[in-house]
Amino acid sequence: MKQIDLNQVKENIEYLAIGSELLTSAYPETNSLFLAEKLDNLGLRLRYKSVVSDDLEDLVGAVKLALSRSRVIFISGGLGPTEDDRTREAVAQAVKKPLVFHSEIVKKIEDRFAWRGAKMTPSNRRQAYLIQGAEILDNPNGTAPGMWLETRRRILILLPGPPAEFNPMVEKLITEKLELYRNQYVLKSVIKTTGAGESWVEDRIKPVYRLLPRDLELTILASPGEVQIRLTLRAKEINPENERIFNKIKNKIINLLGNKVFSTKGENLEEVIGRELSALGLTLACAESCTGGLLADRITAVPGSSNYFLASLVTYSNKAKTRFLGVPGRLVREKGAVSREVAESMAAGVRKKTGANLTLSTTGIAGPGGGSARKPVGLVYIGLSSPDGITTTENYFQGERRQIKFQTTQKALDMLRLKLKEYQPTGKAGSQ
Ligand code: ATP
Repeated sequence: MKQIDLNQVKENIEYLAIGSELLTSAYPETNSLFLAEKLDNLGLRLRYKSVVSDDLEDLVGAVKLALSRSRVIFISGGLGPTEDDRTREAVAQAVKKPLVFHSEIVKKIEDRFAWRGAKMTPSNRRQAYLIQGAEILDNPNGTAPGMWLETRRRILILLPGPPAEFNPMVEKLITEKLELYRNQYVLKSVIKTTGAGESWVEDRIKPVYRLLPRDLELTILASPGEVQIRLTLRAKEINPENERIFNKIKNKIINLLGNKVFSTKGENLEEVIGRELSALGLTLACAESCTGGLLADRITAVPGSSNYFLASLVTYSNKAKTRFLGVPGRLVREKGAVSREVAESMAAGVRKKTGANLTLSTTGIAGPGGGSARKPVGLVYIGLSSPDGITTTENYFQGERRQIKFQTTQKALDMLRLKLKEYQPTGKAGSQ
């Protein structure tokens, strides 16, 4: 196979997502995110990405534009068996090559159907047409084969649209074909923090900025309840020297941020607390009001959570708080359901009911209605009950309902994480 030197064209990689449905709000386009990440690991970068409708004219136009400005063009979608799958046709027109029928592909598709005890439909024969000169890229998870087509100084890579088919095929291409073009090695680390804002984090880690070598990129990404510091080293090779500098900077950042750091291994908070609870042999239960079960959802998203998670009672109404958790009706009337005292009583109540070692409770105003001057939308009380007693926090979260709920769970899990640190045998941070 002729090889094009991607080192010289690394800025000219383009991706086209084909499918009218991807231009609606119902189907978010995600293949480009996966592709960009994989290319980035090779030191290659996407320069353009577009979403194009199924209209043949639009498709031919988009492919021609891509051919005029990019050397490597990834195209996904529109390789299916139906009339509106026109990618083959459009690319063939744009590169001025005929479509050639391949009976061996029909055989493969028939076998695939037979394996499922079904018969291939005649429309699947469309998928057996390849652009002349294209190499077949096997699709182990679907009927549409991909294509690798080299023309004069251009590479076109056609892949099926569904992520379950696209992603593994990209992985395979990366190791089998694109790895040859790797022009850089990349060392990456993501330091995840919670409990501090972006500007606090930035201010805190400023001393490392002047230590950063040119090939080490530091970016700060903030989202509600979490700030990530991403370190990326791009170099011709990873050697003990640049690895040492990378680790030195990473450790310095971790030290500067102290216990705001909850993971350097890509874990979520629920995974961190899950690991800690398992290691310590402790159990957890929750009493949720404003989070409506989201806390339990996050905790149980971790495989193996049944080892430490006992229950979560979603006590949304005042009556339910009294009936299921034993929160005194008088307390709710006097202090209000959204109060430090009720959060405390909920945490204690669920501990008594379930016998868990540790319990969390949430009560707050997620909005958009229900707020007042004294108790605004975003005010949330979180309780944590442990063998050492009960602590509560008063929080003012911002954003819309979903974000307030998420930030509440983030803070609750973080309170638990910090408590668990106290139980570490060394008394030191073990949650990274
Ligand atoms: P197949 O015949 O295997 O379905 P195809 O190439 O015809 O392959 P499409 O019909 O274009 O695939 O896409 C099928 C579905 O896959 C889309 O409706 C969408 O849900 C998903 N999909 C396609 N492209 C993308 C994309 N770029 N990002 C995320 N999802 C996508």
